[in-house]
Amino acid sequence: MRFVYALRSKGVTDKRVLTAMERIDRRAFVRGLFAHRAEEDMPLPIACGQTISQPSVVGLMTQALDVQPRNKVLEIGTGSGYQAAVLSQLGRRVYTIDRHRRLAREAEATFESLGLTNITVITGDGSRGLPEQAPFDRIIVTAAAEDPPGPLLAQLREGGIMVVPVGQSDTVQRLIRVERTASGFEYTELRAVRFVPLVEGIAGD
Ligand code: SAH
Repeated sequence: MRFVYALRSKGVTDKRVLTAMERIDRRAFVRGLFAHRAEEDMPLPIACGQTISQPSVVGLMTQALDVQPRNKVLEIGTGSGYQAAVLSQLGRRVYTIDRHRRLAREAEATFESLGLTNITVITGDGSRGLPEQAPFDRIIVTAAAEDPPGPLLAQLREGGIMVVPVGQSDTVQRLIRVERTASGFEYTELRAVRFVPLVEGIAGD
């Protein structure tokens, strides 16, 4: 994939992350008008007015998440499914939630066509997390919240890591890494990013 060469220069140096991104063909996740641009390091429009993230941002978020082979991972914001597919190469099982049923269904079909069997897709409001599968070793939010949602913090295992863009949707947001320790939460600011907003409730499509 053409952008894999660009990832290193943008700070994605973790070998396991680079290998995972080499294995997952982004072209399987971009349909329609922009399909021919899937191999560029750019965010692109997908259905339901949403976006597939820029590959270098996917790489940096995945690297910050530091997924271990036995980890149970929760993603909020399935979108195209690309980020979840990358995570599926690194952890034991990935649960991914989107509020748009259409996106969840399409992503599920893509995972099936690629033979990715360790991803579970759920249509729902991800700001509530997935209590029935909690706690999670890793949580990644790919839509911007004003604050890290409380239910997600509560569903993070001790020693676990969450990566979440924080800030208003129409301004520059900050990517935050949260680590749950024995005594509370430690926050590290990573970089400026721009994501679509985390919206409460299930969408009508
Ligand atoms: N990770 C995706 C890109 C996500 S775009 C990829 O790799 O393609 C952000 C997604 O978050 C959108 O699909 C949007 O529908 C979803 N979203 C926004 N608010 C949500 C919520 N409360 N619960 C679940 N999904 C949400």
